[in-house]
Amino acid sequence: MARYTGPRCRLCRAEGKKLFLKGERCKSDKCPVNRKRPAPGKNPKARAGKVSDYAVQLREKQKLKRTYGLMEKQFHLAYEKALRMPGKTGDNLFALLERRLDNVVYRLRFATSRSQARQLVLHGHVTVNGKRVNVSSFSVKPGDAVAIHPTSQKLELIKAALQEYTRSGVMPWLSVDPDALAGKFVAVPARQDITDMGDIREQLVVELYSK
Ligand code: SF4
Repeated sequence: MARYTGPRCRLCRAEGKKLFLKGERCKSDKCPVNRKRPAPGKNPKARAGKVSDYAVQLREKQKLKRTYGLMEKQFHLAYEKALRMPGKTGDNLFALLERRLDNVVYRLRFATSRSQARQLVLHGHVTVNGKRVNVSSFSVKPGDAVAIHPTSQKLELIKAALQEYTRSGVMPWLSVDPDALAGKFVAVPARQDITDMGDIREQLVVELYSK
């Protein structure tokens, strides 16, 4: 499956916002957004012109898409699926993104970033309900048990990532047993529960795609 392989910090600089794509580095002083480096290709002395509605919608879509580490085609497919579901399309889109297996592995604190979580999944280190699943877009259902495979439990990077669990716990729709390296996707989160995405205006994404 296609994925972005360029510099990830560049994506954050383009949005002028931390997208937390590189784990621990994102919380350190080394983060270029902390150091206020300008957006790539932008002259810091240039005057800001009027920004069109389209540009605002596009930036919002890029932020959401890049945060979850999706390419345009995958993201657009998720939007189309969200559109066909009952309820608000923006809420449905968030629910679908949160149910992705790579995202759940990241949220369970088995990885420090979604891209690291994706690697764990692709390399067969993750099980769902006891069976290995190596598809990062696999859609996790409420009640599903997501765990690190017994043969992979000694991986240092997973132990290091779990330190974040000790500091911050997990989101309320998940539960985790850090000793067993096993967790559960308890329920599909409501939009207002996804507090770390509070500043994303998904309505703008819907407006962009419905043109
Ligand atoms: Fe983004 Fe993290 Fe790089 Fe900062 S360190 S620019 S938050 S990927």
